[in-house]
Amino acid sequence: MKKRVVLLPLAFLLCSVLLCALSVGAFLLAGGSCIPLPQPPVEQDTQPEQPKVPPRVVIIDAGHGGEDGGAVGVTGLVEKDLNLDLAKRLCALLEAEGVRVIMTRTEDVLLYDRGADYQGRKKVLDLAARQAIGDANPGAIFVSLHANTFPEEIYHGLQVWYSPNSEKSAALAESVRAKVVGTLQPDNHRQSKPGGSNIFLLHKLQIPAVLIECGFLSNPAECRDLADPAYRDRLAHALCKGICAYYENDAQ
Ligand SMILES: [Zn+2]
Repeated sequence: MKKRVVLLPLAFLLCSVLLCALSVGAFLLAGGSCIPLPQPPVEQDTQPEQPKVPPRVVIIDAGHGGEDGGAVGVTGLVEKDLNLDLAKRLCALLEAEGVRVIMTRTEDVLLYDRGADYQGRKKVLDLAARQAIGDANPGAIFVSLHANTFPEEIYHGLQVWYSPNSEKSAALAESVRAKVVGTLQPDNHRQSKPGGSNIFLLHKLQIPAVLIECGFLSNPAECRDLADPAYRDRLAHALCKGICAYYENDAQ
């Protein structure tokens, strides 16, 4: 009995010494420093990679400007002013949808270099400058805003022309046309058409491009509508919806 009482503390002492020796050995094997050993990487909760959506960039081109007023309505409404006002309304709506907008002009000007020899070439230089903005943004779409006029008063309704250089231009034109007809002009049966070489920008641009004749200034009722800020708002909303619908269909 007495012998067992002596042996138990002795065994405990031997175990403690052994554990100490093992700890020191591990410490020395680790290089004898207090720098922690490299740990295996902790597995992160990784999200599945989202497909990258290209940024939506719209170039809004308010037709005419400065010395070039464009068409003049039966009420005296000048096309360049209508185009710019609509462009600004559309710009605000698209930006609210998260679209990046580039305006070819935000003031009543033609886009030609005042330092260049522009005599007799203002319009040519202006259109070339607008084309250059399109060419410099290959990921963008180009929306040119204009208004129509015709010797006979009866003609009315929005008309969309598209560039024959890009297949997507026709889809953009159809999307805009459909939204305007669906929300604003149910009796408008005009179809979108490819622009010929007489429409300089559509002929030259390689990106998706449309030219929208927003209505006939030669039609008294439509000219009065186009002069009305509330109607311009509704038209800008319809154009915005058409452009956004184009992007949604394009992404599918
Ligand atoms: Zn025009």
